[in-house]
Order: sequence, then structure tokens, then C-alpha cells
Amino acid sequence: MIAEVVSIGDEITSGQRLDTNSQWLSQQLGECGIRAAYHTTVGDDLAANVRVFREAIQRADIVISTGGLGPTADDLTREALAETTGRPLRLDSTALSQIRALFTRRKREMPERNAVQAMFPETSRVIPNLNGTAPGIDLSVARPDRSPSRIFALPGVPAEMREMWKHSVAPAIAEMLGPSRHVIRHHCIKCFGVGESELERMLPDMIRRGRIPTVGITASKATLTLRVSAEAASDEAFHTLCAPTVKTIRELLGSLIFSEDDREELQHVVVRLLAQQHKSLATVEFGSGGLLSQWLTDADTNGRVYRGGIVLPTGTAVLSNPNQVPAATTNLRRTYFPPGTDEASATGEYAETARSLLDADYALVIGSFPQSDSADQKPGNVYLGLASPHGCKVHCHPFAGHPELLRERTLKLALNALRLELESADIAPPR
Ligand code: ATP
Ligand code: MG
Repeated sequence: MIAEVVSIGDEITSGQRLDTNSQWLSQQLGECGIRAAYHTTVGDDLAANVRVFREAIQRADIVISTGGLGPTADDLTREALAETTGRPLRLDSTALSQIRALFTRRKREMPERNAVQAMFPETSRVIPNLNGTAPGIDLSVARPDRSPSRIFALPGVPAEMREMWKHSVAPAIAEMLGPSRHVIRHHCIKCFGVGESELERMLPDMIRRGRIPTVGITASKATLTLRVSAEAASDEAFHTLCAPTVKTIRELLGSLIFSEDDREELQHVVVRLLAQQHKSLATVEFGSGGLLSQWLTDADTNGRVYRGGIVLPTGTAVLSNPNQVPAATTNLRRTYFPPGTDEASATGEYAETARSLLDADYALVIGSFPQSDSADQKPGNVYLGLASPHGCKVHCHPFAGHPELLRERTLKLALNALRLELESADIAPPR
């Protein structure tokens, strides 16, 4: 059984609003074991809506639409369904009195225009809307030689749509599926440290269509997520089915994997490892506007491991003019280096200084980013420093790629270096 999600509205096709309904509905359909094979977006145009519904009915067993159920002239879903199915609109008196009652509760007169929301194509069922005036429409359409396609038309307002999904649509779909219902589940494996194609090469024959379970890769700002997905009779059956694949991936990728929880980023893992080892962290950032500090502050919810950070403007200015080092960081002045100083040793000095200044076990330094608008346009390097109880390491990374990605990628490189250090400390025998 496959589904199609249809989003209706000029505000979506014109790009004024992001279609989040389709995302949410597809996730819910997946929970029920139904694959959303198509997402269609269409503007407020009757003929276009009819074309979209006709096509959806042919190719999908379940069609969920959102939007266009309001009382205004541009709300056309009702009419489009009547025309698509050839069933005239009829007034549903129960729905009308419910809409009237809602206005009475809000101490307002019902505008006559709203009566249109009680019109339904013949033979359809009303999907009650407890939070708004637009009831939904549940309609089965016969198809020659096949089971009927079932349309659920819901309002566009996300909160109303979700309630109606939970109370009416999900139970109706569960009934359609009967005892044969399956679940579609995903297991996430998050990796950092290689590129997408390199990761694919490390997993021979896994990212193949038709494999069970399927393994997909998505990349987001240098974090790679492997998604092991399958349809199964239950959660337990899913875990049994995926276990061998997950085990092989763990063996092949080793420490490239930093988490198997979709919600975790590198900073969460670093904070967790630091807390487990009763260690603390300080940071110094040049030219990243305090983003690393923000990530760590958010991840360290009870403030146990993050001692704080020093946020400075791009390093070149600071390095060449000691007066630009803010007074609060007076101790960092001793790491002033005249122009031309070896940046690697400056970065190391900053790391050691921050570690002692903020009384932390570890300190991370994000060196200055090369100015992307500098006249020479030469590709530069960024220096990352990591001071720990065992000494100080400085890494130099070539700074190449889109400027928007570079900042986050660089911060993640630094966090990953710390994660690897903490993981090896975790398994090292006590000295
Ligand atoms: P209403 O009675 O509010 O007019 P409706 O069914 O006509 O309900 P729309 O007019 O299409 O719904 O949309 C109402 C609001 O819901 C939009 O202004 C928008 O804020 C939100 N919305 C509509 N469609 C989507 C969507 N696909 N994703 C996210 N938000 C949406
Ligand atoms: Mg509307």
C-alpha cells in the first residue's frame, strides 16, 4: 500500500511558506508502515487541483491532502474533490451546527460564508475538527479492477491537521490495514571525519537499491548519517532484521561513528564523555562569533563540564595588535605574537593559556579563519589547538569549501578531535 501527500496553497508554491505538513504526514505514514511514494504541491487553482487528485487516485491507495478547506474564495479543495469524483456537494446539517456552535463558543456570529465548510461531496464522511471551523473530508473512490483509493482531506493549519490525524485518520488507516499491519523503522548511525563518497566506498555493496534493510547516506554540514531502514512486523522484528547490518557497519567504520542517536551532535557526545570522566572544557574561538560556545552551553544542560569560552574577532587583527585583546582576557596577552609569528605555536599557546585561565582539564582553540573576501583569495589554513592533561596538539586544516559550511565544519573538526582523545582516554588503562 502506498500513499501520496498533497499540499495545497499558493503560499507554498510561491515559496512564502515551507511545507512542513508533508514532512510530518510522511513520518506518521511511515509509523503505520505505509510509504509515501509521492509529495505533490499545487497552488490555489481548481483545474490544477482536479488534475492532481485524479493522478493521485490512480497511483496511490491513500491520498492525504492539506489546505484549501477554509471558507474563502481561494479555498478550493472541497470543489476539486466534487469535480474529481463527480459527486455533487451536499450540505451536512450536523457539520453545520458544529461550525455554528464553535462560533457561539467564541461569542461571534457565524459569517454566512462559513456555511460552505459544511458542504461535502456525496458519500464522504466528515472528519471532525475540534480546534477549528474546517472539518476534513474522508472519501473512497472506486478504481476499476483494484481496491478503492481513499482520500483524507485535512485543513492546512498544522495544529488542527495533526489533531485530526491522531483522532480520525490514523485509526481509520489502522482499520484499513487490519492485522497485517507493519511498521517502517530507521536506525541512525552518525559519522564524522570522511566525505560521503569515501564513506560509501568503505561500505561495499551496502548502499544498494533493493537491499533489505536499506542503507542510505545523508550529509548535513559535514556530518554523515547512515539510515538503516526496513519494514517489519514489529519493533523487535525490525531490530532482529537490522542487527547484522548494524554490526557490520560498526566493524567497518569504527571510530568514525560518533553516535547512534539521531538527536545527538558531536557536542552532545563530547559533553557526555567529559561528564563520564569527570573532566571539564574551556574554549577560545577566533572569528566564529561564539558558535562553539553556544553549542557547548546548550549541550551541557546542567553546566557540569563546560567552564566557558573566550570569543574573539578574527585572529589576524588580534595577533598583530595586542590592544585589541579584550581586557577580560588579560592573561591571553602574553600570547600576543607579532605579525609573521608561527600560527601553530600561537594556537598552542592560546590552548594552554585558556586551560589554566579557566581552570579546565581540556581546552579547544579554533584559530582564525582566513578572510574569505581577502584580496589575494589564496586558500588558507585554519589551526585547531587541543590542550589536555597530557600535553598540547595543534592540527592544521586546509580551508577550502563554501564559506557557509566552513565555519561549522571547522568547529566539528575540533570537537571530533576532542571526542577521539576522550574515547582513547576512556579505554586506556589507568596510569
Ligand atoms: P483555514 O480554515 O485556516 O483557511 P485551510 O484548510 O484553508 O484552513 P490554508 O488556508 O491552506 O488551510 O492554510 C492555513 C494556514 O495553514 C496557512 O496560512 C499556513 O500557515 C498553514 N499551512 C497550510 N499548508 C501548510 C503546509 N503544507 N505546511 C505548513 N503549514 C501550512
Ligand atoms: Mg484557507
